[in-house]
Amino acid sequence: MDPVKTWSAVLSELELKVSRPIFAAFFSKTKFSSFENDVITIKVSNPLIKEIIESRYFLEIKSLVAKYYNKETALVFKVDGTVKKEESPGPLFAPISRVRVFEDLAKLSHLNRFYTFENFAVSSSNQMAYAAARAVSQLPGHSYNPLFLYGGVGVGKTHLMQAIGLEVLKKQPNTKVIFCTGEEFTNEIIDAIRSKTTYRFKNKFRNAQVLLIDDVQFIAGKNAVQEEFFYTFDAIYRRGSQIVFTSDRPPSEISKLEERLRSRFEGGLLIDIQQPGFELRTAILLIKARQKGFDLPMNIAQELALEVSDARRLEGSLIRVLTEAQVRKEPLSLSLVQKVIGTKQQARPLGYPLSPSAFFNAVSKHYNIKVSFLKSKTRARPVSFPRQILMYLLRLELNLSLNEIGSLLGGRDHSTVLHGVEKITSLVSSSEKVQKDLFSIKNLTVNK
Ligand code: ADP
Ligand code: MG
Repeated sequence: MDPVKTWSAVLSELELKVSRPIFAAFFSKTKFSSFENDVITIKVSNPLIKEIIESRYFLEIKSLVAKYYNKETALVFKVDGTVKKEESPGPLFAPISRVRVFEDLAKLSHLNRFYTFENFAVSSSNQMAYAAARAVSQLPGHSYNPLFLYGGVGVGKTHLMQAIGLEVLKKQPNTKVIFCTGEEFTNEIIDAIRSKTTYRFKNKFRNAQVLLIDDVQFIAGKNAVQEEFFYTFDAIYRRGSQIVFTSDRPPSEISKLEERLRSRFEGGLLIDIQQPGFELRTAILLIKARQKGFDLPMNIAQELALEVSDARRLEGSLIRVLTEAQVRKEPLSLSLVQKVIGTKQQARPLGYPLSPSAFFNAVSKHYNIKVSFLKSKTRARPVSFPRQILMYLLRLELNLSLNEIGSLLGGRDHSTVLHGVEKITSLVSSSEKVQKDLFSIKNLTVNK
């Protein structure tokens, strides 16, 4: 089938699957660009749309595309500001440099290419950590070894750690940089021990020139893991390779951590990162918006920074506001921020800790349905609708992943969760009832 027609066919199928505002906002602005070397390139009008399509609809579109081609066809979206709505699709030839970008990304394995030093805003709460991370990336293994960064959720530990990796790779692309989380490390050790392949594991880690272990507190309490970890650490350290750790607390407060590990951690440079203040939150929002191709007005960034004090929710809130503006076809404004984030009316206490269970309880109370029903297999509408509301809230308010939400909800798979989130997303803009429901549920999470 003619690739241009194929894309129109995919679009018509999508139109049936997603709600009308979603289709109008995101898909009507896509345009077939090229089909070369088994790569279909689709143009979209701006980076936010690209991000939303890639993060939420990619698999769906991929499976539709696969229906029209027998072989594995790669699908690539690229931003092209000239793409306008309602333009008739036509073939256009574009270089497939994106494919290369993906290859490079793969090479960087676990590193997020946006987590660079350039994209990291510096203020009093993190300047020490920033300076140390910079120094380490200049001369890995020579300045501070190990470097141990600790601090609360969302303060930028993972970002800084990855910036070190990216910077080292930028300067010396052949350096063996390994990034992994304490949890992945633990799982790999356990698997290796179980399958008697510890030698492979040892080779992989011991040859690292820069080893980045994120959330190292996770290894505490697991004895075999700690032992293997200690020897790996020792071997790497003795070879003069750089090691960087992050943790949610200082070594002295990690319980069930072997003493010898604690003293190794403390033998390096320990730096804490504090929660970002208002100025820094504003700067972070401006950076995040720019990454998405948006020039966020200062007053909007400040309003958002005022509303959202939890660092981890900053980006999610920004995406919500940008998405809502697209869906509602409204310009960004202070009142839109209020409508979407809307904490002012709710007088949220400072540092208001949000947990999934607060939302479970609030949804349960609002719809008068037991929490166990929400987690149960039943698909009866009186339960499934509140469950979808809950999915939506967990996704947007807590930024949980689809898989995390699925498992909190009694082991549902991520596509079910995605469907629920999308359904409510499209209702939010059209149904006053849903808006009111969400508003009172959010209130319930505050005034238990
Ligand atoms: P942590 O690992 O400490 O929980 P992350 O590094 O995952 O936090 O940061 C959470 C989000 O906030 C990421 O999107 C990150 O890019 C962003 N962020 C945090 N601090 C900064 C900063 N100083 N400048 C830019 N972005 C930041
Ligand atoms: Mg982290």
